[in-house]
Amino acid sequence: MPSSESQPGAAAGTVVVIGTGGTIAGVAARADDHVGYRSGELGAEALVSAVPPLAGRRVEAETLARLDSCDMDHATWLALRERLAQVLARSDVAGAVVTHGTDTLEETAYFLHRTLAAQAKPVVMTAAMRPATALSADGPQNLLDAVTLAGWPGARGVLVACGGRVFRGADLRKVHGWRVDAFDAGDAGAMGVMADGQLQRHRPWPEAPLHAAAAALAAVAQWPSVDIVTSHAGARGEVIDALVRAGARGIVIAGTGNGSVHRLLVEAARRAETAGVVVRRASRCQLGGVVGQRPDALPSAGALTAPQARIELMLDLMVDGMVDTGSSRRDASLEPKTGAC
Ligand code: ASP
Repeated sequence: MPSSESQPGAAAGTVVVIGTGGTIAGVAARADDHVGYRSGELGAEALVSAVPPLAGRRVEAETLARLDSCDMDHATWLALRERLAQVLARSDVAGAVVTHGTDTLEETAYFLHRTLAAQAKPVVMTAAMRPATALSADGPQNLLDAVTLAGWPGARGVLVACGGRVFRGADLRKVHGWRVDAFDAGDAGAMGVMADGQLQRHRPWPEAPLHAAAAALAAVAQWPSVDIVTSHAGARGEVIDALVRAGARGIVIAGTGNGSVHRLLVEAARRAETAGVVVRRASRCQLGGVVGQRPDALPSAGALTAPQARIELMLDLMVDGMVDTGSSRRDASLEPKTGAC
């Protein structure tokens, strides 16, 4: 595998930048304020205009949403996926860029990785830890890198360009709350770096086997509710019981260490399974996922982080008959009150 590749030629097509909000589009009253800003104030057009080197490139910009990504929702995911599919289908388009908040960047990246056909052209997501008004804003360079990567020959799949590094969307996790280099790729490692406008690639482009639910996603009337519960000292099983009563179809437990779960949560999870809810066990640790599966343990989510496991389980539940709940007996007192898909 080459460790560095040549610059994209002049023939590279148009790159479409789609804005969804986040700190990269955030505005603060003072240039030294990295915290008290409003996310998603600027549209994608303004973000592109603020990067002078993009003036000579074939770049189009449009704003899909102006969310603080902590408020990201499934309707926006669907709209983004649909718009990206339209954009990538254009013969003059080389790839797309999505500007996003950092907080749930890994979730949107994983969702797109599993549901959007991007094997012929890339979708490059980018974000920033400092608002656009900061003295030393990180957004403009990140956006420039993302546009460069979206036009890179051979680029494909859902990628993330942040802080000079390139990640496969499926590997991404936010590991720091406020530092500029807030992202990591777990044990997989970063896919490469953007060095002075050049991609140095150290790992293959992502393979993206689409989830079976992807084809009919737009037709799913109501997405199944799947929630995350964290295991910790003093955990209470009532939290899981309440989620089941509130209509959860699936529950991901972010366990301690290698997916160990407080015994009271295990008992409640077994009650939930009896009620027909699907439970998966991930780890609250940022690295390593869950290795192995003891026969008496709740089903493991494997290498997936808890937020990724939540998305995967939601997609699984959309596909009829794909998930074995492990029980045919149902406890009426715990029966979900609202149905889903
Ligand atoms: N709360 C912001 C967001 O995710 C944080 C960021 O973008 O850095 O939209």
